[in-house]
Amino acid sequence: MTTVKPVRVRFAPSPTGPLHLGGVRTALYNYLFARQQRGVCILRIEDTDQQRFVEGAEQYIIESLHWCGIEFDEGVQSGGPYAPYRQSERSEIYREYIQILITSGHAYYAFDTPAELEQVRNEFQKVGSGLFQYNYSSRNRMKNSLSLPSKEVKELLENKVPYVIRIRIPENEEISFHDLIRGEVKVNTENLDDKVLFKSDGLPTYHLANVVDDYLMKITHVIRGEEWLPSAPLHLLLYRFLGWELSMPQFAHLPLILKPDGNGKLSKRDGDRLGFPVFPIAWEDPVSRDVFRGYREEGYLPEAFINMLALLGWNPGTEQELFSMDELISAFSIERIGKHGSKFDPEKARWFNHQYLSHKPDKELLDYLLIQLNHNGINAKEEKVLQVIPLIRERINFISDLWQQSWFFFQPPKTYDDQVRKKIWQSSTKELVSDFIQEVVRMDDFNKEALHDLIVEFTNLKQVKMGQLMNPLRLLVVGSNQGPGMMDLAAVLGKEEFLSRIHSGLEKINS
Ligand code: GLU
Repeated sequence: MTTVKPVRVRFAPSPTGPLHLGGVRTALYNYLFARQQRGVCILRIEDTDQQRFVEGAEQYIIESLHWCGIEFDEGVQSGGPYAPYRQSERSEIYREYIQILITSGHAYYAFDTPAELEQVRNEFQKVGSGLFQYNYSSRNRMKNSLSLPSKEVKELLENKVPYVIRIRIPENEEISFHDLIRGEVKVNTENLDDKVLFKSDGLPTYHLANVVDDYLMKITHVIRGEEWLPSAPLHLLLYRFLGWELSMPQFAHLPLILKPDGNGKLSKRDGDRLGFPVFPIAWEDPVSRDVFRGYREEGYLPEAFINMLALLGWNPGTEQELFSMDELISAFSIERIGKHGSKFDPEKARWFNHQYLSHKPDKELLDYLLIQLNHNGINAKEEKVLQVIPLIRERINFISDLWQQSWFFFQPPKTYDDQVRKKIWQSSTKELVSDFIQEVVRMDDFNKEALHDLIVEFTNLKQVKMGQLMNPLRLLVVGSNQGPGMMDLAAVLGKEEFLSRIHSGLEKINS
């Protein structure tokens, strides 16, 4: 009987800046898969590249994922049986494994200085030999423990001459593996170079640290972005050289998220340029102090953002578009992740947010709107706010729209839109409106239906179209042509407020 290993996946970001929405999607797919398989989801911070380290990025990543509702069972915050989960705290562990690779001859010391490497690269270019690769064909001409006599190597090491440790890629070998999304992937080692595994600063590079940690943390599935597909053969070789082939995880390389026009990858720089955020929450660059927009701050609900991201690359095989996190967990499958990039569609993102916001219970929208009213110095009765919510819920795409679509229920307009006025105001309008309000004053029961009947009767009598009265009334009450149905609006305002706005509006517009 074969025992099935419990699923263990990891999201392993490098704290080199804010998390782009592609990164959030990777975290989400790992999370969905782990939850569905009743497995474990780990957050590991891959910070061995000190040069690219950005202050605050780790905290940003944690806060973003928390906002999205993506939780981890083990990791930098919660700890766990394989701690530490921050690679910079694990350098002793990697030393042990690099030593094994050196001893077995699968890795070697390279003493070439950056200047020497630069020179070789330039020479290569000069003679038109293309890009220089440190590999089986060039390594013997370079300064390393394979090309130099062992005595010299020993001296260099004793004299603490800086070195890096490179993997020794075998010559002309076919490496193949099964990717859960792409199927069979084959690469000849001729196309791989002797990548650096260990740097002169005493820390490993991503490749070594990643493989060692995936092995030690018993990762069963590596679900990550397509940009890492070219590195997978190198990782496979490392598993082989370390004798871990039988424990190798399965790989799933996720396709890219593309720009809305399908022209290339949606990058960190695209967001503000294309008019929509590419980050889950706002990010302030610690050096330049530039601020980048985030979905949270733009008024998106995390559940809408997550739903939109889940469908960007994965499809459920049905027409269903709205999924709660629990529904995503049960419907998700790696097999239904597409092979091709998905175009990011900002309109669709808005659509999702609208769906979620407009289906929220009144009580939740009430809480959001009360905060905004408060923020604008308005102390409104809950009862009134609850009357307003059903009238505007269809019009809101973002949380901030609650205020934009409802402020006029709570305060009179300060200005009157001149464009609208020019379009609808006629020489007879003032008189028409004045006559009409005299009728309103006489109303005993000021409600929606009664007001509607009065308007129909009045416009018939005056032989004008309804719009000739209604449009000026809206301008006077709201200050523009926005807002829900006029009768609804008037009914919420009440007779007194309705009349007072019309009076003061008439004075201001005609002055
Ligand atoms: N640290 C890598 C990154 O920043 C992780 C790649 C992987 O998941 O193997 O994306």
